[in-house]
Amino acid sequence: MLVALGLTLVPGLALGYLGFLAVAEREGSLRTNYTATITLVRDRLAGELARQESAIRSDLSDLQHVLDNPEVAQSRLQAIAAARPWLREPFLLKGERVLAAGLASGWSRPLVDPFTGASGLRLMMQTAEHAEFVRRDLELALGHYRAALALAPSVVTRGLVTLRIGRTLFKLRRFEESIATYSSIPTLAPDAADPNGIPYQVAALLQIADALASLNRTAERARCHQQLLHYIVNHPWDIEHGYGYYLGLALSVPSIDVDLAREARARQRAVATVEWITREIRPRIQTAVSIGASSDKAPDRLALKRDNGDVLLGYLVESSSGDNSSRAILGYELQPRSMAGHLLTDVLKAVDLGEALRVELIPHGFNQTLAEPHDPVYIAAFSPAPSGPALAQADLQAWLPGWAVGVFDRDGRSIEQLVARERTIYGSLILGMLGTLLAGVALTMRAASREAELSRLKSEFVSNVSHELKTPLALIRMFGETLESGLVTDDRKRAEFCGIIRRESERLTHLINNVLDVARIDAGTKQYTLSSCDVVQLVRDALDAYRPFFDRLGFQVEVALPECSIELAVDREAIVQALVNLFDNATKYSTDVKLVAVSVAIADGSVRVSVADRGVGIPSDAIPRVFEKHFRVGESVSTPGSGLGLSIVKHAIDAHGGRVEVSSAPGRGSTFTILLPIALDASTSARLQL
Ligand code: ADP
Repeated sequence: MLVALGLTLVPGLALGYLGFLAVAEREGSLRTNYTATITLVRDRLAGELARQESAIRSDLSDLQHVLDNPEVAQSRLQAIAAARPWLREPFLLKGERVLAAGLASGWSRPLVDPFTGASGLRLMMQTAEHAEFVRRDLELALGHYRAALALAPSVVTRGLVTLRIGRTLFKLRRFEESIATYSSIPTLAPDAADPNGIPYQVAALLQIADALASLNRTAERARCHQQLLHYIVNHPWDIEHGYGYYLGLALSVPSIDVDLAREARARQRAVATVEWITREIRPRIQTAVSIGASSDKAPDRLALKRDNGDVLLGYLVESSSGDNSSRAILGYELQPRSMAGHLLTDVLKAVDLGEALRVELIPHGFNQTLAEPHDPVYIAAFSPAPSGPALAQADLQAWLPGWAVGVFDRDGRSIEQLVARERTIYGSLILGMLGTLLAGVALTMRAASREAELSRLKSEFVSNVSHELKTPLALIRMFGETLESGLVTDDRKRAEFCGIIRRESERLTHLINNVLDVARIDAGTKQYTLSSCDVVQLVRDALDAYRPFFDRLGFQVEVALPECSIELAVDREAIVQALVNLFDNATKYSTDVKLVAVSVAIADGSVRVSVADRGVGIPSDAIPRVFEKHFRVGESVSTPGSGLGLSIVKHAIDAHGGRVEVSSAPGRGSTFTILLPIALDASTSARLQL
């Protein structure tokens, strides 16, 4: 048993172990594959980024040629950003100067004194200012300014003198005249700026607004403010010359047009950006460049915080030789998410990922709050966000600090979940195989033990039968010899001995009939011959035939037979034999109380023939087996018997379409009831005719 189990379980478990090893190996190979895939994607992405940025390098050398013209340089910067959605806020640094796409700081051309080469005019202006500010004689000052206007050689000087006239008129509270004077500025010198870098138009519009306020012309004043803000928004000048201040001043006026206010705020943000670049970025980059950290090979990176958000900058340093501090530097803010949408999409076209995988950028605590993702590709690339763990990821630290690129299962499953299915299949296969093997072993062992039981029963049967044959044979022989010896002369005695010899030979016949019947049943050749007969009479005859045995063994027999006769088509001999078997058992398995009750009754369309005793009874677990061939209840083994009687009863009654019922309790006796249907159905009749 143990050997069989061992032989089954050991190979089964070995197979199971091999199966799990295969699954574990699969997990490892999946991991390697994904890592290889993502490393390839990372390298290509880095390559693409390098390619894109080296293109910017050529833009930088192009920018070199237009550095002296801030407007042109600014439009070049704008073009750089427009061509690359993943790049934002490009800027140019050179020395102290900062140039962004929309604004500049310290980049305007040097301010020139408008009176250079016009010393007469300069003198006249100084006299006028002296009268205006020191002597406070405004009429005198106005006269001097007017005289100067006549001498002014250019639109720039004329414009400046006109502004002074407007100011003096304002001070004289001649507001209407002041307004008219200032109003000539746009036509006179539209783009000129005063020696402080402030455009004439801004100064003029501010003064007009004040004059209108003094005249209580509120509506016109509001319009004037609108005009002022419009001008400032559309004509930004160098931040160094107070652009931010004037923009804030113009914005602080209430009731301005909503769209205009929005544009103005965008300008304010641009001012803040340039100031931030000047304050935070320029010193850092220039320090890095001066200590030689920067090189020509790869663009450098700078990661820093702004307004609680993380900003990632890339910058390139002009490769020409020269003083480090004056080398032009082109910087830009990188938009990693947008990059995922653009560059990654391109890169992935060349990598076969299959249906089940997708690649995403993964931020390592990168909080890109400043980015305003208006870019549709940006939005598409990040909805939905990666769910579930990355199957493998590769660091982008050198190219995009704070970012990695990861490969994900489309349904968000982990590697463990991906192999779980295979593990389940392997597991169930192995368990199923083990189960089948164990079931096979169990069935084989059961068949073997049945075989052993059967051969034990058979050998028991042989010894039982020989024992049962011996007793009547010994009696016949003994009484035969006694009679033969002629010693018994008493007729009564002789008759008694002859009776014993007859009864014992009848018992022998009965026993041999049983054995032969079983042999026929086994061979399938047992036949029953039906003939109509009275069942009541049949029972009576059987009882009469058996009565000598009952008497000899001291049994009291209670008989309850109906008066009428019950005609049935039966095999008379078979039924008698069955009844004798039941009588035999009743006598064999009774000990103290020797009482047998035989009855015949009709109930539910059947003739019921019962044989009851008050003997040892049958344990309930053995009842279902008593009709099995060779079966004997354990305790009865000391009683002679072959284990055939009840199997013959059952076979015969079944063949008549009837059944045998048993009710029994240990120590209380047993009742066997034969039920024979009164009307035999067609199939039963046919079987009986065989
Ligand atoms: P045998 O009597 O030759 O052993 P049977 O087939 O007639 O064989 O009976 C099978 C077993 O059923 C018996 O060995 C006995 O244990 C049990 N049995 C049969 N009839 C009775 C009975 N009337 N009382 C108790 N046990 C019985």
